Amino acid sequence: MNATVPITCAMAVGPVALAELHRCLGLPADYGQRRGLALQAEATIDSLVTIAYTEDGRAIQLAPPAAAAWMSLKRAADAAAIQLIPVSGFRSITRQTEIIRGHLASGRPLDDILRLVAAPGYSEHHTGHAVDLTTPDDPPLDAGFALTPAFTWLNTHACRFGFLMSFAKNNPHGIAYEPWHWCWRPSAETT
Ligand SMILES: [Zn+2]
Repeated sequence: MNATVPITCAMAVGPVALAELHRCLGLPADYGQRRGLALQAEATIDSLVTIAYTEDGRAIQLAPPAAAAWMSLKRAADAAAIQLIPVSGFRSITRQTEIIRGHLASGRPLDDILRLVAAPGYSEHHTGHAVDLTTPDDPPLDAGFALTPAFTWLNTHACRFGFLMSFAKNNPHGIAYEPWHWCWRPSAETT
């Protein structure tokens, strides 16, 4: 095993390569099955739409239909004086791998990491349909987001635009409560 071999996006796309990547990272072979998580297809990078920029100038991008749904949601939130700020959107399998490697390098136990970060191939962020949100005066990616008017608004209105919160408290996937993580699911859209 050589965890320092760079894994490229192309290598990680197929199931065999993904299994090899998981093995390199020390992930259990039955990770998806055990967690009840489905493989998530990576969005076509060329088609991604920029919906915002991070404070350090990186583009936050979603796949076109999710970006359109987000724009509608954002307009409705703005009209209700609710400020929603995207902090993360599309994330490649390669980037997900780098994040996990970073945590491993800092000495964090794998079980802890997997409560906070899905295994490469299993993050909804790969699809370009998931967005992490914050609101002014709220630290990003913090459970305190659940106490904000922005979260209350999302709980009531986001489904109208097809966005659902993926990881509730005590979810069966063993992933921490993520009130900031909303994923566009066209089937959830209500009128
Ligand atoms: Zn997220």
